[in-house]
Amino acid sequence: MVSRIIPVAPFDLVIFGGTGDLAQRKILPALFRRHCAGQLPGSERIIGAARAGLSCADYRNIVATALREHCGPRAVDDAELTSFLSRVSYVALDGMGSQGWEELAAQLRPSAEVPVRLFYFSVGPALFAPLAERLHSHGLTNGDTRIVVEKPFGRDLQTAKALNRTLASHFDEGQIYRIDHYLGKETVQNLMAVRFGNMLFEPLWNSQYVDHIQITVAETVGIEGREDYYERSGAMRDMMQNHLMQLLCLIAMEPPAKFDPDAVRDEKLKVIRALDPVEPHHIVRGQYQARQADEGGAQAHPSYRNTVGNPRSRTESYVALKAHISNWRWAGTPFYLRTGKRLVARSSVINVMFKDAPHSIFGAEAGRHANHLKIRLQPNEGITLSVTIKEPGQGGMRLIDVPLDMSFAEALGSEGGTPPDAYERLIMDVVRGDQTLFMRGDEVEAAWAWTDPIIAGWEARGDVPKPYDSGSTGPGDADLLMRRDGREWRGINP
Ligand code: NAD
Repeated sequence: MVSRIIPVAPFDLVIFGGTGDLAQRKILPALFRRHCAGQLPGSERIIGAARAGLSCADYRNIVATALREHCGPRAVDDAELTSFLSRVSYVALDGMGSQGWEELAAQLRPSAEVPVRLFYFSVGPALFAPLAERLHSHGLTNGDTRIVVEKPFGRDLQTAKALNRTLASHFDEGQIYRIDHYLGKETVQNLMAVRFGNMLFEPLWNSQYVDHIQITVAETVGIEGREDYYERSGAMRDMMQNHLMQLLCLIAMEPPAKFDPDAVRDEKLKVIRALDPVEPHHIVRGQYQARQADEGGAQAHPSYRNTVGNPRSRTESYVALKAHISNWRWAGTPFYLRTGKRLVARSSVINVMFKDAPHSIFGAEAGRHANHLKIRLQPNEGITLSVTIKEPGQGGMRLIDVPLDMSFAEALGSEGGTPPDAYERLIMDVVRGDQTLFMRGDEVEAAWAWTDPIIAGWEARGDVPKPYDSGSTGPGDADLLMRRDGREWRGINP
């Protein structure tokens, strides 16, 4: 395939939290891969900034180790590594205090020389406001400065509004990149291409033809290493309010007039604002149980409650709900959303389930058949459309459903057989100044405005999550949520 990689403009990037887990597992490997792909200009500076008192050489060693560990199946080439590391430096800095800021200022090149200056806030949310304030008070920002803010963006509407206000007092909205890595996935963007680049789907994309839509984000991991954060947060805040909500928006939004950041984000915002409040009996919360090791290779692990050390914990590690969007396109079509930890497989999938044909000319024995569009976000990104055909052979007119499959890794022959990691694309978008795949402040607030009453209701009722077996598909009540409507969840498959 012809390479379409266009190098980005020179930039200085500061990674606050440059020694942290996210920087080591995602941000630095993403930058390294873009370097190897030839997309970085060669003159960029990547400055790790964190609390630890490290020398530049120490930090480069940490980065080299992280890249070797996290860069995927392709071995790290020594020459590429050396050239990448030559652009990496380090500043020991206190984001809450005054230490290190002068040193950081000294490492940044004058704006006239390198105008694009990026500050990645890969630190806990308590540091977001202090960092914004210090960047400003130390005069480190210019008109081309961009900040990247990680999740969680607030823990409710009030805190999100306060954070938006603080950031807005130092930066224009056009400089703030609220990252949701789900939006950087190849398939998520392909969802827009499939919907708005083809004549085939959009005419059917409404309640007249779509029976219902399922969005599943299933994880096999537990919450180890994030116990304190997760216990205060739960699946609703950690996943539903941001990732699943963003996927819902892209599936349900009206066609934007053009593919431009505000046009896309305006349409997403309208979806969130059109969501009905969720009835309490349309939500199921769950909490995973301990698992014993078994001969099939399953490893033992403790229950959610033991992991967080709180035998009375009421935090959900799973949530499933039925949502309705009150607008002309979607009135009457339910959206079923579910996400959870310690489930049977790691799988993020959107299933668009079309209605049955209005009349079967093949008679009852042909069975019921309906088209089904499956959008796989991970693993094996791709899109499958199931169509109904005649079963081959002499056995009369028997119908079967077969997939028309498009696996992106195969179809696009991308580097190493897998599409670029979401962080690669998103960081390059920040360098280019493209906010299309980042959440705007009003979107985040609207999502919290929908989520807050749900959580407040649980707290007022003292709601206790239903236990579910680790390695299962979640609590049985989540199946009932669908069965009451005469529907079934699609399986959770790796
Ligand atoms: P971490 O605890 O591994 O790293 C935190 C980093 O912040 C360290 O480099 C530390 O030195 C630095 N730091 C802490 N206090 C500081 C201070 N006062 N001044 C300067 N630096 C300071 O955290 P992480 O897992 O890398 O997460 C970072 C952010 O990214 C968090 O907001 C988290 O919610 C978010 N996030 C993480 C992941 C992930 O997979 N790790 C995924 C999504 C979002």
